[in-house]
Amino acid sequence: MIFRLLSSLSAKVPSIVYRAALIMKPQVVFVLGGPGAGKGTQCAKIVEVGDVDNYSYTHLSAGDLLRAERNREGSEFGQLIDSYIKEGNIVPVEITIKLLRKAMEETMQIDEKKFRFLIDGFPRNEDNFKGWTSVMDGKADVKFVLFFDCSNEVCIDRCLERGKSSGRSDDNRESLRKRIQTFLQSTRPIVSLYEKQGKVHTVDASRSVDEVFADVKAILDKEG
Ligand code: ADP
Ligand code: AMP
Repeated sequence: MIFRLLSSLSAKVPSIVYRAALIMKPQVVFVLGGPGAGKGTQCAKIVEVGDVDNYSYTHLSAGDLLRAERNREGSEFGQLIDSYIKEGNIVPVEITIKLLRKAMEETMQIDEKKFRFLIDGFPRNEDNFKGWTSVMDGKADVKFVLFFDCSNEVCIDRCLERGKSSGRSDDNRESLRKRIQTFLQSTRPIVSLYEKQGKVHTVDASRSVDEVFADVKAILDKEG
């Protein structure tokens, strides 16, 4: 009797584990910093070492998702996104959240173990912050915020350098002036808001890629 009970339980364990993984809530790390602070570079490194160090994060860049939507044939938002990006303005939150949510769902559908996300370039303003809270509260857990702290001068120099080959319409002095202004006026206060909640890890991003990454790795090791 006991033997039968045990064997039926052991048969059920894998399916219980499987279902628990299926209903896993997405775990999110918001990655913020000025334009060119190195958010994309560091996220790529985290994903790269993930397999070795068991981080298993998926990198979602709000900017990349918006650019892809802008370029998608038949997109109803293409032109609107284009004008916002060129002006260094923040695209309406409904569009950005829709894209983020779709990307997270698609990732988890393909592999249910991929429920950890680095969301780079979000939330960029109060509208983003409130939109996330109203749509995603209870549906995803924000673990912490990784803030790449870098002077405006270094940010501008890096983006101008990137602009030589990126083909991006906003890696030029005029767009950068507006993007830095948007960062200081709209995004920095969101970082402060999370700082008050004790959720921010700040990294000095003006150093070399490897030095910055050493700090990032230490934070991830600590946070799990
Ligand atoms: P963001 O995603 O924050 O806009 P990127 O990761 O695209 O920034 O980096 C902007 C540019 O600066 C890229 O050309 C990248 O190669 C370079 N870069 C990133 N991090 C560093 C660093 N720590 N030192 C020097 N250059 C960097
Ligand atoms: P990035 O690739 O992060 O430098 O972003 C490039 C541009 O995309 C920004 O200047 C904005 O116009 C737009 N963008 C990126 N992230 C967001 C966001 N969270 N909300 C709205 N617009 C965004």
